[in-house]
Amino acid sequence: MPTILIVDDNAPLIQVMAPMLTKLGQVRFATSGAAALRQMRLDPPDLVLLDAEMPEMDGFEVCTAMRADPALEAIPVIFVTSHDDLEAELRGLAAGAVDFIAKPVREPLLVARVTTHLRLKQLSDELRRSAQLDGLTGLHNRRSFDEHLSHEWQRSLRTGAPLALVLLDVDHFKRYNDHYGHPAGDACLRAVAAALGSLARRPGDLAARVGGEEFALLLPDTTPEGARELAEAVRQAIGQLALPHAASLTADHVTASLGVAGCVPRPCAREEAEQALMKRADEALYDAKAAGRDRVGPVTPAAPDTRASALHTPGPLRAAGCPA
Ligand code: GH3
Ligand code: MG
Ligand code: MG
Ligand code: MG
Repeated sequence: MPTILIVDDNAPLIQVMAPMLTKLGQVRFATSGAAALRQMRLDPPDLVLLDAEMPEMDGFEVCTAMRADPALEAIPVIFVTSHDDLEAELRGLAAGAVDFIAKPVREPLLVARVTTHLRLKQLSDELRRSAQLDGLTGLHNRRSFDEHLSHEWQRSLRTGAPLALVLLDVDHFKRYNDHYGHPAGDACLRAVAAALGSLARRPGDLAARVGGEEFALLLPDTTPEGARELAEAVRQAIGQLALPHAASLTADHVTASLGVAGCVPRPCAREEAEQALMKRADEALYDAKAAGRDRVGPVTPAAPDTRASALHTPGPLRAAGCPA
């Protein structure tokens, strides 16, 4: 059921509106702009009915703040105001409102407008979600992975929690396609993706397909040792799928090579640091390939006083970020 947030400094008016909406969603309320923003950030609603005129922070300010916040910008706002005048309506629309309702609120009009905008919100949520997913496997796609990496990097920076990354590449996959055909190759990728997705299950874990036969796990609050254990579990799970691979030079079944990198972010050029994390995981993956495939990239101790010390492959976890 969608959630609807009514924001009005006049509590009796909320009591009038709320019963009109209970059939359409779960109704919540706030009696000031600041309280509304606080509540939205904790638990974003699907629609906001916003009083334009409130003391201190008015509706226009709330709407402007919502549009500037990536977590709130997609939530539709309907302005509710006694000012049935053109100027207020234009201000509301300019601040990012999708619609406008005049007080006194008439129930059929309120219900019709809220119904429409909840439906549109549901459609845009579905679109946004499918734009994040890889069509073949249903895992997150590369773009979504990049966005989450940025997001998690910043979050780690704030909280000081470690962040780990696992990269996976299916072994001898060109030979698999050549031998079994492209459709069988696709089915194989789906099976590998399912194994990956079923193992990365902690809240915040993200499994993505980042290239043709390349996958990534983004693991917030995870030490390099923890990530390495998970990577090893993934490697074993892929072996246990027991998908025949007669053309493989490594085994008689499908195998994968993995690389792990972890860090505790410190303030620095974020993009550079994210790329460095990817690079370390990629190097560990390359090591796994070079060492014979079907394994997790070997531990390579990070050299001190270099960028590599900031973003290390599994080893003792220490406070590390960018070089000072
Ligand atoms: P290595 O063990 O060194 O990783 O060898 P590899 O053959 O797996 O690596 P390479 O990069 O040479 O080949 C990757 C293959 O993955 C080539 C490409 O045809 C195949 N591939 C990429 N995307 C898809 C896809 O969506 N479906 C299928 N079936 N195959 C794909
Ligand atoms: Mg008011
Ligand atoms: Mg590859
Ligand atoms: Mg490969």
